[in-house]
Amino acid sequence: MDDRIEQSDFERQRLDNVRPPAWLNPRPHALYDLVVIGGGPAGLVACEFAVELGARVALIERDALGGNCLNVGCIPSKALIRTARLYAEMRSAGHFGARAIETARADFPAAMERMRRIRARLSRGDSAARLAEAGVDVFYGDGAFGGPDCVDVAGSRLRFRRALIATGARPDTPRIPGLAEAGYLTNESVFDLTGLPPRLLVIGGGPLGCELAQAFGRFGARTTIAQEIPLFLPKEERDAAQLLSEALARDGIEVRLNTEAVRVHVENGAKIVDLVSDDYHTQIAVDEILTGVGRVPNVAGLNLEAAGVEYDAVAGVAADDFLRTSNRRIYAAGDVTLAHAYTHTADASARIVVRNALLRGRARVSALTIPWCTYTDPEIAHVGLYVREARERDIPVRTFTIPMHDVDRAITDGEERGFVKIHVHDHSDRILGATIVARHAGEMINEITLAMVAGIGLSTLARVIHAYPTQAAAIRQAAIAYERTRVPPRKRAMRARAG
Ligand SMILES: Cc1cc2nc3c(=O)[nH]c(=O)nc-3n(C[C@H](O)[C@H](O)[C@H](O)COP(=O)(O)OP(=O)(O)OC[C@H]3O[C@@H](n4cnc5c(N)ncnc54)[C@H](O)[C@@H]3O)c2cc1C
Repeated sequence: MDDRIEQSDFERQRLDNVRPPAWLNPRPHALYDLVVIGGGPAGLVACEFAVELGARVALIERDALGGNCLNVGCIPSKALIRTARLYAEMRSAGHFGARAIETARADFPAAMERMRRIRARLSRGDSAARLAEAGVDVFYGDGAFGGPDCVDVAGSRLRFRRALIATGARPDTPRIPGLAEAGYLTNESVFDLTGLPPRLLVIGGGPLGCELAQAFGRFGARTTIAQEIPLFLPKEERDAAQLLSEALARDGIEVRLNTEAVRVHVENGAKIVDLVSDDYHTQIAVDEILTGVGRVPNVAGLNLEAAGVEYDAVAGVAADDFLRTSNRRIYAAGDVTLAHAYTHTADASARIVVRNALLRGRARVSALTIPWCTYTDPEIAHVGLYVREARERDIPVRTFTIPMHDVDRAITDGEERGFVKIHVHDHSDRILGATIVARHAGEMINEITLAMVAGIGLSTLARVIHAYPTQAAAIRQAAIAYERTRVPPRKRAMRARAG
């Protein structure tokens, strides 16, 4: 079957689920317990939780249900990253004792087709029909407050007892002269590419920029990544960011740190970008430019003034620890209000809102323990405090580090680059935070998160039997390193004599 026909079938399936072309908005009820604006992860979780409680719920979505995550974020990026990793492994097969496929040329359209198939499949879980069946009134259109207790959408006025703003965020536009005229990609357009750009410049070294630069580089695009400051992922610990720079360079990506794109123009069909690093000026010619320079909250057009909701164009909707806005009936969740913009925080914050808004709960955002992960190879995951944050707060901290090259399974898997680093409160085994750089760091960080949430210290982790050989055993090795510091000096001497 023709590839393009199949591709458009997957797209049709996705849109039938999350933006059904023939959808008719329902006739509104006189009063809703909860009106949710925005059908991304935050809005969807809130709706599902609220109807389970028996609430009368309306959801307003202006584009496609599933939001950024399903349509232009987590899902398409992770699907492409997986295929890109396969190509990287095929090229390095010799390292694994297999015959290297030097000529493994990526079939980019096939990778995109797989991504669309996966996205279409996962869209079933976010479908309008499924929500309607569960009892949610789904309205398509731009939601805007008509007053402190009502929202207008597509000619209907929805009155509410409580409302949730879950309108998410969109890509920030870099202010580079000539860029708009030359044309550029963001996460909203990059997953629509039909062919692999032979030469790609990625501007921005945050999670999005690093993940996609590595994936496109592995597909075979000659990729350059430019980051204004001297390291990637500025939030992360320096050694983690350094390992990432090295990993990108090993993938053949040209890493330009401390480098700013200052001007773009088009010459003979190529985009010519002026790059400046201190006083060093250079130009590169590329076919596409992908920008990942930050995100801005979707607050415009909501008529927040009419509802008495305070907001900031950069920080988003202002909400307190209970996620309540300056209008006590209206709450906010997800990227439009949180500093930690992830799908799992959108989910967690939506649950807090429903508890507080409908069950008179007192759940707080500040009580959440939030892990995160950048899905490069190796992955970089973190939870809790960084050492610098502990020092800023005068918390005495002690760190236990296990390099992955000391972990048997990482060695057998040929995945030795990285480390597990666990920070504890000095003189105790209480875990304050951890950074993991490893192929499966995103999976491994969950064990530390569980320990932190459940108040499990390193002493207990040292006693937990980990299946052998696993990479997560690195966590137990760090815990055992902690335990060793607790052995009384006499026993240490005995051990030393015993050799
Ligand atoms: C490329 C990329 C990769 C990512 N990868 C990951 C990852 O691996 N893991 C992770 O945890 N996070 C990841 N994220 C972040 C994640 O996608 C977001 O944190 C998450 O989608 C936020 O959910 P949300 O519901 O707050 O907002 P969104 O997903 O942005 O959804 C908001 C919804 O509101 C709608 N809307 C906006 N304004 C209105 C209005 N006025 N009326 C009606 N509807 C409106 C929008 O159309 C949208 O559907 C990634 C993001 C990107 C861009």
